[in-house]
Amino acid sequence: MKGINILNRISIKLGLLFSGVFLILLLILGTILYGVFTNLFVDFVSSDLIDQGSNHSKVLDNDFSKKMIGHVVSMDQNGSTQIVITDENQKILGSTVPLDAEMKKHLLKSKKEIVISDWKKDKYISTITTIPNKGYVYMFYRTNVLRETVSVLKSLILVTGIGTVFIGFGTIGFLSRKITQPLVIMKEATNQLAKGQYRQEIPSKGNDEIAQLASSIQQLGEQLQYFEDTRNEFLSAVSHELRTPLTYIKGYSDVLSKGIIKSKEEQTEYLAIINRETKRISFLVNDLFEMSKLQAGKFQLQKELANVNLIAEKVASSLRPALVKKGLELILTFSEKVPPILIDVQRMEQVVYNLVENAIKYTDNGFIKIRSFLENEFVVIEICDTGMGIPKEEISKIWDRFYRIEKSRARKTGGTGLGLYIAKQIIESHHGQIKISSVENQGSTFLIYLPRELKE
Ligand code: ADP
Repeated sequence: MKGINILNRISIKLGLLFSGVFLILLLILGTILYGVFTNLFVDFVSSDLIDQGSNHSKVLDNDFSKKMIGHVVSMDQNGSTQIVITDENQKILGSTVPLDAEMKKHLLKSKKEIVISDWKKDKYISTITTIPNKGYVYMFYRTNVLRETVSVLKSLILVTGIGTVFIGFGTIGFLSRKITQPLVIMKEATNQLAKGQYRQEIPSKGNDEIAQLASSIQQLGEQLQYFEDTRNEFLSAVSHELRTPLTYIKGYSDVLSKGIIKSKEEQTEYLAIINRETKRISFLVNDLFEMSKLQAGKFQLQKELANVNLIAEKVASSLRPALVKKGLELILTFSEKVPPILIDVQRMEQVVYNLVENAIKYTDNGFIKIRSFLENEFVVIEICDTGMGIPKEEISKIWDRFYRIEKSRARKTGGTGLGLYIAKQIIESHHGQIKISSVENQGSTFLIYLPRELKE
């Protein structure tokens, strides 16, 4: 985790936060406990003193003799409780210990039944019980016992607090490290992506948000790699596509310009080759131009009311020579019910042309069928062939830019892998859909769905 200040680490932040919260809770709990404990303790001691005092007073009320006083005093000779018995004038008649100054202060205080001292400051908690017409019983309890207990309690709370902070910090630190570890790996992976290392293996467990993020980053890398691969393939396809016609054009024009060929027919034939190859280049450049417009969003449809039957017919007749050359049969079935719809005629021609041209390119024997019909609210154009078909796993990819199935097959047949991508964009911009069903070595069927009521 280089480059990150230690205090900026999530594990440290979480550790501090949780330990802080623990500590505050503990302090609140400790204060409450402390208050409850001391109050209960003082209450308990005072009521115990009162009980003892009133017992003694009852006994002494019956018999206030010296002997009985001595007997009562001797009963409280141990522990932290002291007893002092006085007559009505507070003359001391008996006591468990010699009276200290604090005790004497209490004697003079008042004759109220209970005197509870401030246990934090005073040496004793004391109570006074009257022996009617005879005297008083003073009970004393040493507060240092309570103070010692409280100080033990305080130390306990402090030790628990420190312990909790350490354990909390350690546990949270450990847990959050477990959480942040994958984030660090992902950060590394994205750094690698930025450097062009698109294939990243990010280990992740479970299916929580972090695992999902890891898989998204991995997928992003795979997508980038895919685009990189297809772009490189595309560049090599484009240069190959350009090189072949350019070689022809250069070769034949060289021969013509040197005036070696005298025969008129041969000259015409050479010029026809140059013309055909120039057309090939121009198609490729058009495709590229079309694609760049699509990508830049500068794609505007020139819509007019037109019948798709006428468009399909026009495409069929312009491609008939290529069909005948390959010995393929052409079947046309156009429904009369198909109404004129608002479309960009030139672009629709381009789409149908592309699909029929593909059908011819990828079919060696059998037939090509072009059909039109109405299905619910859609005008449908179907282009069906009995060609090599498309492998199941490739079907979803054929709409991607530059995608071509098997380089060997693509090289033989030419093409740039842009045709279907452009076709899909054009149909979708008409609010339509283009679908395919294909079985390898049996043939393919492309279906164009155009809404009858085309929106402007
Ligand atoms: P290309 O210019 O290479 O033909 P497309 O985008 O038109 O590019 O087609 C993409 C790929 O889909 C082609 O490379 C081809 O392998 C496959 N494909 C398209 N149409 C057909 C078809 N009718 N039969 C078999 N494969 C086809």
